[in-house]
Amino acid sequence: MIVVIDGPAGAGKSTTAREIARRTGFDYVDSGAMYRGFTYLYRLHGFDRSSLLKKLADHRLRFEFHVTDARAFHGDREITDEIRSDSVNERVSEVAAMAEVREAVRHMLRKVSKNRNVVLEGRDLGTVVFPDADFKFFLTADPTARARRRYEERIGRGETQVSLEDVRRNVEKRDHIDSTRDIAPLKKADDAVEIDSTFLTFEEQVTRILEHIRNTPEAHNMTFTRI
Ligand code: C5P
Repeated sequence: MIVVIDGPAGAGKSTTAREIARRTGFDYVDSGAMYRGFTYLYRLHGFDRSSLLKKLADHRLRFEFHVTDARAFHGDREITDEIRSDSVNERVSEVAAMAEVREAVRHMLRKVSKNRNVVLEGRDLGTVVFPDADFKFFLTADPTARARRRYEERIGRGETQVSLEDVRRNVEKRDHIDSTRDIAPLKKADDAVEIDSTFLTFEEQVTRILEHIRNTPEAHNMTFTRI
C-alpha cells in the first residue's frame, strides 16, 4: 500500500509521515533525502552541473528506510546528517529542478516502494511519481508557521548558528523555486486530501490522516500495528 504526503517545506510532512509509519508499521520513505543526496554529490563536484549529470548512471548513493528510520549513504560513508547542512539547503531546489535528477529519483522511489507498505513524503508524489497511490494527502500551513517549525526543528537538533529570519528566507526561496519550476512543480493532486495544519496540533493532524485511511474500504483488509 502506498500513502503519499506532499506539501511545501516546513508543513510538518516528515514528523507526520514518521508518526503514521510508527502507528501503521509501514516504512517511512523520504524523497527529499534523495534530492539532498544528489545535492551532496553536486557539491562534491564543485557545483558543476555537467559533472553531476555524468555521475547519474553510477552515483553510489544509497538510502535505507525502515519504519521511522531513514539513512543516507554515499558509498560506505553515511551522509544522513550532512544532507541537512546549510550548503545543501541552499542548493537543493536547484538540483531538484534538473529533469535528469528527477528521473533518477523517480526511478529510485518506485524501486524502493515496490511490493511494500510505505508512507512517503515529497512534493510531486501524488501528481507525478505515484499518480495511483492508495492515499494522497497534501499538507500545508501558513509560511510563518512553517518557518518557525523548521527553525525549532533545527534548534532541537542542537544547531546553534541558525536564525529564524534565515530559515524563513530559505523556506520562501525553496517554495518559490519548487512551485514555479517547469517539471513536476509542487502541486496538490486533484484527488489528494488537503490538510491545513496552521491551527492543528500535531496529534490532530496525524489523527485526521489515520482516520481517513481507516475509514476507506481499502483499509478494511489490512492489519495495522497500532493505528
Ligand atoms: O523535504 P525536503 O525539505 O527535505 O526537500 C528538499 C528539497 O527537495 C525541496 O525543497 C525540493 O526542492 C526537493 N523535493 C522535490 N520533490 C520531492 C521532494 C523534495 O523537488 N518529491
